[in-house]
Amino acid sequence: MIQQAEKKGLYINGSWVQQEEQEFFKSINPATEEVVGYCAAATTSQVDDAVESARLAFKKWKNTTLPERAQFLWKAAKAFEEKKEFLAQMMTKEMGKVVAESLGEVGVVIETCKYMAGEGRRLFGETVGAGAENRHIMMVREPVGVVACITPWNFPVSLAGYKILAALISGNTVVWKPASEVALSAQIFTDIFHEIGLPKGVLNLITGSGSKVGAKLAEHNDVKVISFTGSTEVGIKLSETAAKTLKRVALELGGKNAVIVLKDADLKLAAEAIVKAAFTTTGQRCTAASRVIVESEVKDELLNRVVSLTQQLKAGNGLESGIDIGPLTNKQQLETVEKYVALAVEQGAVIECGGKRLASERGYFFEPTILSNVKNEAVVAQEEIFGPVLAFIEVNSFEEAIDVNNDTIYGLSTSLFTNSLYYANRGAKEIESGLVYINNGTSNAELGVAFGGTKQSGNGHREVSHHAFEVMTEWKSIYTTY
Ligand code: NAD
Repeated sequence: MIQQAEKKGLYINGSWVQQEEQEFFKSINPATEEVVGYCAAATTSQVDDAVESARLAFKKWKNTTLPERAQFLWKAAKAFEEKKEFLAQMMTKEMGKVVAESLGEVGVVIETCKYMAGEGRRLFGETVGAGAENRHIMMVREPVGVVACITPWNFPVSLAGYKILAALISGNTVVWKPASEVALSAQIFTDIFHEIGLPKGVLNLITGSGSKVGAKLAEHNDVKVISFTGSTEVGIKLSETAAKTLKRVALELGGKNAVIVLKDADLKLAAEAIVKAAFTTTGQRCTAASRVIVESEVKDELLNRVVSLTQQLKAGNGLESGIDIGPLTNKQQLETVEKYVALAVEQGAVIECGGKRLASERGYFFEPTILSNVKNEAVVAQEEIFGPVLAFIEVNSFEEAIDVNNDTIYGLSTSLFTNSLYYANRGAKEIESGLVYINNGTSNAELGVAFGGTKQSGNGHREVSHHAFEVMTEWKSIYTTY
């Protein structure tokens, strides 16, 4: 079991390795600002080693049978169950979310292991009627090769699980570069696969900065797929990198998610869902609600309800009981949130609650904040903040609500609250988002359902469901004349 003070190094070709003069960086607890542990900053040659180990392992792994690969995922599910508490504690220490959320996230990894173990059996091919006599044609899916998985800090293990498990079950090998903030949680995740005996080289873990280690990994010639979740800015860079060697690239990016509330909606239901969607994970979810687009007639009542529920939220160290929201994950994120709120006020917004750092001696805490009188053109209504800030925008009709919802560069998740079958169906059709929820919050994804966004929230690929295999496999068409 990993001791927190232990310097684990990188996981390459089935072992934890480090060089003599290896540089290490700190993982900081955002609630206490204490050092949680140290992680290795991979050198260029170590990135090469990790990719080479995955390249060589691919030759064998791609020929293992599906049930054999599935067995590793079933074993991993069991091992995650056993380490659930330990891993969840580490996640909370590293990135701040309350421990109940961390436990829920490990639960998602366990379910993804089981789901992918089963879904692998459905990597179906196709047969096609031949246009010539005595000919049989079939199309089969084949794994692509080395997959670079590059992941953010807000979901330290579940997003990695979506990518890594889909890659492995379909016969690919993986080099994983997690966000530095959560590198120790990534070590525990990786250790589980070591302990269940996953063959050497099939999963490799390298840590270090995105601009150095992540970029080097992404541009490596032997990486065939980049599977990335993170900011739109980095996603665009990776798309450019991928284009140079025609790598496949799947991008899950930012969002500016809205909850639309029409005047006929159940306002109690809407208010509860809004508060949950806006402030869970301290608003640091790609699907977090950051805008409420509400019809004028019900704005005051909805705002009062949302403010009153928000004021009941207790912020603090996520390891303690009775805490609803943790800190921002790093200092930079705290400063960003602060700047956005100041800018919003400059542009005419009114702070209804929150609006400042929490008075605490340590930690990157910001009060859950609600802004009203926000115009659609305001920066705070257009840019992703990634913090506990919710902007109320008033509209005068369903049509205007849809226009405002669609008027951002993003298209990840939108909720619509209404009791009208007519508007629910029109909304589902006219909302430009990869995820649409009717009478539910913006952050309610389920396994087995395609996950991803339109516009600059992604590049058309989807994760979580069997659609994950679209990027992880390639079609081969086989013509047999007999
Ligand atoms: P980020 O883009 O800064 O970093 C994500 C990962 O990319 C990290 O591992 C980082 O080290 C690495 N990276 C950074 N620069 C790189 C480069 N030049 N080349 C290669 N790798 C590089 O994102 P973040 O701050 O960790 O996470 C927050 C962002 O992630 C938000 O925009 C959020 O919306 C997005 N996100 C999206 C989803 C989704 O599914 N759509 C889910 C969670 C988070």
